[in-house]
Amino acid sequence: MRKQPKSKGEVFCPHRSSDIKPKTSAYGGFEFLDLSVPADGSTYVEGTFAPHLHMKGIRSKRKTIRVIPYANEYFELLVPNGFTLADMKQFADENGQEISDGLQKMLDEEYPYEITPLSYESKIPYLGEYLPIRILPDGDESGGYFRDGAVYLKPGLTGEEIREAVLRLLGEMAYGIFKEKLDRFAKAMNLRYNRLAIDDGRRSFGMYNDVSRDIFLSRRLLMMNDAVIDFLIVHELAHAEEFSHGSEHDALMHSIMPNYDECDDAFHETCSRLIKQGWI
Ligand SMILES: [Zn+2]
Repeated sequence: MRKQPKSKGEVFCPHRSSDIKPKTSAYGGFEFLDLSVPADGSTYVEGTFAPHLHMKGIRSKRKTIRVIPYANEYFELLVPNGFTLADMKQFADENGQEISDGLQKMLDEEYPYEITPLSYESKIPYLGEYLPIRILPDGDESGGYFRDGAVYLKPGLTGEEIREAVLRLLGEMAYGIFKEKLDRFAKAMNLRYNRLAIDDGRRSFGMYNDVSRDIFLSRRLLMMNDAVIDFLIVHELAHAEEFSHGSEHDALMHSIMPNYDECDDAFHETCSRLIKQGWI
């Protein structure tokens, strides 16, 4: 059972790629081609940040490839019969950036709120708190950091540059913080995954690919508090044991997180707040 968003066009719950059933008539009991790759055609280096494309290829009688984007940041590709995973990889390498840019544009166009432009007076969401911005000391060429309950940034940035600088810092920090949590929960749950990749999801904060057994977590998840981050991590890890959403996946999560329901509510509240503030 797939969880529904609280309101249409807003925030979706995290989910694993295979939960999304194609809407097209091409769906018909054959294998899917599941592929998650960096949008810019590069090879992902574990520990780094890279926006990914999550795609499901569906073979059909058509001669050309049709890309169908979904608001939960997932792509359905209708591909000719005989199309292989290697073909899909090549297609992603050649067209990924354009496809990714198209999705970002779609999310921006659907965005229903007015955003207050960022300034040095703005507060920055980080691990469930809102931190002030401070100016880097003279001569500090580091490009910024989070330290002592504040975000240190270069002076003279525009609102958009402040946003980009914050997101870049989150991307740099995410792997270290998430990896420690992921491995701790994997041990507690006695589950294995292959690799953690840091992604840039705005509607899907976590993803589990059941072919590669890779877990993808968005750098934007670092804006949420520890309990919500743990909730998302346990959710994705539980897919390593239980393929589908449903009572068994729920039971597994409840066994690790007795406060599951509170975390679920907190996740949705956090998403509603962050989307109104323009962070996701
Ligand atoms: Zn899920």
